[in-house]
Amino acid sequence: MRVLVIEDDDAIASALEKGLIREGFEPIRAGTAAQALNSLPVDFILLDLGLPDRDGVELFQNLRAVTSAPIIMVTARGAEQDRIAGLDLGADDYVVKPFGFRELVARINAVLRRTSHRDMESPTQVLGPIEIDRRTRKVTVAGEEIACTPKEYGILEFLARDPGATITRQEILDSVWGSNWFGSTKMMDVHVASLRRKLGIPNVVETVRGIGFRLVVPQ
Ligand code: CA
Repeated sequence: MRVLVIEDDDAIASALEKGLIREGFEPIRAGTAAQALNSLPVDFILLDLGLPDRDGVELFQNLRAVTSAPIIMVTARGAEQDRIAGLDLGADDYVVKPFGFRELVARINAVLRRTSHRDMESPTQVLGPIEIDRRTRKVTVAGEEIACTPKEYGILEFLARDPGATITRQEILDSVWGSNWFGSTKMMDVHVASLRRKLGIPNVVETVRGIGFRLVVPQ
């Protein structure tokens, strides 16, 4: 997977490059907007908003116009951060400097999981007795349609993208509530409880204590 690292600070870019290689990615470095646009196509983009030759937001829009690769914005704390939050530009996520590399990798993986369905061929996914139709957003259990609320549907659909995998509360929050939602994840339990009742299959949405949830598909 080719990851374009758009970052003019050499020390940060080198550290990211080394870390990404360790994680099995193929980083491509660009220190300017011009270099970045010449490095396409790529599979994923990390965009530092503070660049010497072009406004970062403008470059974001340039990139969005020519590539559908997911973009994580990297920003300095403060005014810049407020600006993106306010603009709600449609980046797939953003991280604020200074950030830990583990946090960044977790966010990359979460974005990849969230965006992978963009390429999914069939709109219908069958998981044992459960069928999810992403085109109509309808869920059936053993052929019977169940009436999910948008949040219940969102949680189920998101867990179903990687059945069996433990998905963190934060990932669910980012996907279903949006990454600009800042608050407790407690209300998630209410929606999960309701979803479980409607599915009516014991232990299908398993709680992974202190982490999140996973979908355990019945045979
Ligand atoms: Ca910079």
